[in-house]
Amino acid sequence: MEEVGTGLLDRLDAMQRVAASAPGGPLLIVAGPGTGKTRTLTHRIAYLCAELNVFPEQCLAITFTRRAAEELRHRLDGLLGPVAEDVTVGTFHSLGLAILRENAAAAGLPADFRIADDADRTAARAEAGDDDARYAALLRKRDLVDLDELLTLPVALLRGDKKLVREYRDRWKWIFVDEYQDVDAVQYELLRLLSPADGNLCAIGDPDQAIYSFRGADVGYFLRFSQDFTDARLVRLNRNYRSSAPILAAAVQAIAPSSLVRGRRLDPARLDPEAPLVGRYAAASVADEADFLVRTIDDLVGGLSHRSLDSGRIDGRATTLSFSDIAVLYRTDSQAAPIVDALARANIPVQKRSHDRLRDRPGVTAIARELRHTGLDGPLAARVRLAGQVLAERFAVPTLDGSGSVRPDDVRSAVDLLAPLARRCGDDLELFLSQLATGAEVDALDPRAEAVTLLTLHAAKGLEFPVVFLVGAEDGLLPLRWPGTAPDDDAVAEERRLFFVGLTRAQDRLYVSHAARRVRHGAERECRPSPFLDVIDPGLFERFGEPEARRPKDRQLRLI
Ligand code: ATP
Ligand code: MG
Repeated sequence: MEEVGTGLLDRLDAMQRVAASAPGGPLLIVAGPGTGKTRTLTHRIAYLCAELNVFPEQCLAITFTRRAAEELRHRLDGLLGPVAEDVTVGTFHSLGLAILRENAAAAGLPADFRIADDADRTAARAEAGDDDARYAALLRKRDLVDLDELLTLPVALLRGDKKLVREYRDRWKWIFVDEYQDVDAVQYELLRLLSPADGNLCAIGDPDQAIYSFRGADVGYFLRFSQDFTDARLVRLNRNYRSSAPILAAAVQAIAPSSLVRGRRLDPARLDPEAPLVGRYAAASVADEADFLVRTIDDLVGGLSHRSLDSGRIDGRATTLSFSDIAVLYRTDSQAAPIVDALARANIPVQKRSHDRLRDRPGVTAIARELRHTGLDGPLAARVRLAGQVLAERFAVPTLDGSGSVRPDDVRSAVDLLAPLARRCGDDLELFLSQLATGAEVDALDPRAEAVTLLTLHAAKGLEFPVVFLVGAEDGLLPLRWPGTAPDDDAVAEERRLFFVGLTRAQDRLYVSHAARRVRHGAERECRPSPFLDVIDPGLFERFGEPEARRPKDRQLRLI
């Protein structure tokens, strides 16, 4: 634990310190990628508690994924010690759930309501057809709450109960929201109810990373923060600690045409003159692109025993690379299959967030039978076993192999995934189950797995990796569009922000690749590189082994 009080802000740069030690009242921190938003947020909470006599239990910190919440909690523990446990940290959904649990009766719910799973939802949908009112009524009858309702029900409850609003405002006098650029209307309303217009609301985010408008997020809430909240203070963080200078320069140029931040600046804290340029690979085909990945990953990791990479790396980061340092990012999930195949054939371990959640994984429901295979024992085993039982009962999705039995390997990997969560949730089985139900897609990944991580660009938000491959940087995928259609300006701007999010995940090495042909919408099509690459200075790229035969053609194409 760091010494509380003295020197608490020593590990922050000047602007981070201004943000962390700002007085109460509405505070908007406009901060680009890699500028230390999490560090600033945790230090602000610690500073308020240690220096300004704020009680930890008066603090509510909201993030977008459970993983981000855990990271925040972990760092707060380091700064504040055991009292950090009194800070409420969670996602919007877990906050909604907590409010509903505390007020179940007032919200018209039984005390033991549970969150509807896919099977519950499908059944209710089938019965209710298009009739949304009826759908909700069916869920209610079955004591179920939909994920969306975890937010809409608390909002409705608070809207009609001024006393309850006062109680919550009294409890959480200090509210902190990360990734504020991606709040939607309901989340925004919940925040407005929880925080008065002159309240101690600290919103932190980056409008240029707003990428969720397709599911209702509205960057407008970020942009009009100072209209919504009285005398809002604004602090900007421009110093990027994550990426090498060439990666950062490429990213800043890429976002420039659509930037929502006036005078967007990102200054590299890392100034290694040896930093590699951004790798660019023009693949002949999707298979060729996958080969490039395999070759390059082999080079990077295979070389680890006899040479060290990036001698100039800062902050004592590792000087050798392992598979877990590498991420492959793509625009659509359908791009993953050929990559997974190619990496698997080359014996490169991969972890990919799959559509099915933890509880749907093969093996999860067989845990209570099969736990003896796993070498897990003691209270933790009991907890995981119990969890497996409940999951089996509630979700009833046993996945069997051809012979009708569950593979021990699947059980083992399911236990590996469940155990850390079970550990954190202690004896609270309901908490454990609701965590499973409310987790975001990225939450199914194990950050410590010794494997290359495959992610959509959306799921990569907030994460960082020493090595990033951004594949499929082609017109039609980035920006994404249906053949024969033209996306409107807003859609292109959002796609460009998504591209910016992808580029800025990289710390030391970034590779961007595009294939000349790709099957999309059932037909193989000729592809051109993404127009987003055109605004990046060619001098920032190092072009990798383009197939000889294609070079003249590429040049001709470029001349036209
Ligand atoms: P994003 O917008 O991508 O979510 P962020 O602003 O949340 O980015 P962080 O993930 O908090 O960025 O920080 C990026 C990296 O910079 C982390 O590895 C963090 O440890 C490091 N960092 C942040 N502030 C400092 C600092 N003052 N000194 C050294 N390293 C720092
Ligand atoms: Mg962040």
